[in-house]
Amino acid sequence: MREACSFITKNERETRELARRIARLLDRGAVLALEGDLGAGKTTFAQGMAEELGIEQPVDSPTFTIVKEYEGKLPFYHMDVYRVDSPEEELGLEEYFYGEGICLVEWASRIEPILPEDTLWFHLKVEPNGTRRILITSTHSRAIRLCKELQTT
Ligand code: ADP
Ligand code: MG
Repeated sequence: MREACSFITKNERETRELARRIARLLDRGAVLALEGDLGAGKTTFAQGMAEELGIEQPVDSPTFTIVKEYEGKLPFYHMDVYRVDSPEEELGLEEYFYGEGICLVEWASRIEPILPEDTLWFHLKVEPNGTRRILITSTHSRAIRLCKELQTT
């Protein structure tokens, strides 16, 4: 997979702010796949996105439920598939992926075979100094477009 662009965030607030900027540029039905170790900032990113979508309820980790549904300007589906062993068991998720809402999936590589082709991939890495590097990757033109728009907004 090709790197489209990357960002450094120095703290939790900056990660939320980046997620908010990205949320403003998403189309209906966008699927965001997040990868990164425990504590890298995936849920923090989801919280920023939820704020921008006007969701008032607190967004926390959906680890034990797989999907949490929120209603904002658009529906927001926050998923954590850490406990999924085989994607074939989770075909029920596809109705979310191909719906109108925004889907954000933590630990997405576990269900990669059932993710749509135009999924936007975000890799969150903890740098040695504790900041986070957030890489947007995809071979799909949608990621390239998103990166261009992030440079100009
Ligand atoms: P994950 O969902 O990937 O396990 P969380 O978002 O739950 O991660 O937790 C990230 C933790 O790292 C939080 O405690 C947050 O305060 C801290 N943190 C430190 N720096 C950053 C940063 N640049 N971006 C996001 N979180 C950060
Ligand atoms: Mg999390």
